[in-house]
Amino acid sequence: AAKRSGRDRVSVYRPELRTARETFTRISAGLRHAIDRGELAVHYQPVVELPSARIVAVEALLRWTPAGGPVPPLDFIPVAEETGMIVPIGAWVLDQACRDAKAWHDRHGASLTVNVSVRQLAEPGFAEQVLRTLARTGLPASALVLEITESVFVGVADDAAPLLAALDGLREHGIRVAIDDFGTGYSSLSYLTQLPVDILKIDRSFVPADPADAAGGDHAFTRAVLQLGTSRQLPAIAEGIETQEQARLLHDLGCRLAQGYHFAKPGPVAHVEAAFLRLNPALTP
Ligand code: C2E
Ligand code: MG
Ligand code: MG
Ligand code: MG
Repeated sequence: AAKRSGRDRVSVYRPELRTARETFTRISAGLRHAIDRGELAVHYQPVVELPSARIVAVEALLRWTPAGGPVPPLDFIPVAEETGMIVPIGAWVLDQACRDAKAWHDRHGASLTVNVSVRQLAEPGFAEQVLRTLARTGLPASALVLEITESVFVGVADDAAPLLAALDGLREHGIRVAIDDFGTGYSSLSYLTQLPVDILKIDRSFVPADPADAAGGDHAFTRAVLQLGTSRQLPAIAEGIETQEQARLLHDLGCRLAQGYHFAKPGPVAHVEAAFLRLNPALTP
């Protein structure tokens, strides 16, 4: 640590803070050119039906590989959100993903689900941009799901009103809305009935690691969400299924949709094509 001289005290000498700021600066400088330099790619992870494991949708997951090597989304997405760069980057993702997913929708009836940040949703022209992208790529509105993290819906009642209105506008066109990472925020289950939402994605932290001793709170929460889904026709997708045992448990609890390494990891277009061949063979021409 820096010596406690008067001068040192006024500047930031805590190494972890300096590092965080340098990392932020480096990432935001690099991201600025990421689209132009062709460093961004969209990978896709299947969402499957239980118990058949047939693919019913693919989730678009952004990848960034600058010259120095890949940077994880959890490192660069928050920087893109804070700087506002997520707006052009998100538009690029949506366009690319709709173009890729068109063929999967035509051949397999698969939907496309795309992660959308609050910053994008708050842009005045967002709904029009989405509709233009659908028109340009030919993907029907009924095949598109927008994933919004649960935090958008909680604790920000005043600011949230225009965002919820934007979501409702999109839903009037047939686009569906999913709450991502459900369970990690603080929305009560009963509050859900008032939200413009069509699908719940149960965060992977609520999928018991070892179903054999899954009698605890995780299990109860998951069961409650699934029951709610049944009573309100709100389908749920269980995220982060890594084993056959977890898949079986979720199916036994009444979960019809799942996603996770057990079925397929995220990967580029060719990887998804292979997953369709493996999991939806009867429908592959
Ligand atoms: P998410 O939307 O909740 O996506 C699921 C994450 O879990 C992905 O991480 C995926 O690779 C990972 N995952 C899937 N199955 C498993 C599993 O069985 N086990 C484990 N341990 N992990 C699994 P990824 O790709 O690193 O993305 C992280 C987050 O970054 C996403 O979480 C999403 O919030 C955000 N993100 C990714 N792409 C975009 C994008 O295009 N736009 C926005 N706004 N956010 C994005
Ligand atoms: Mg997601
Ligand atoms: Mg998620
Ligand atoms: Mg998540």
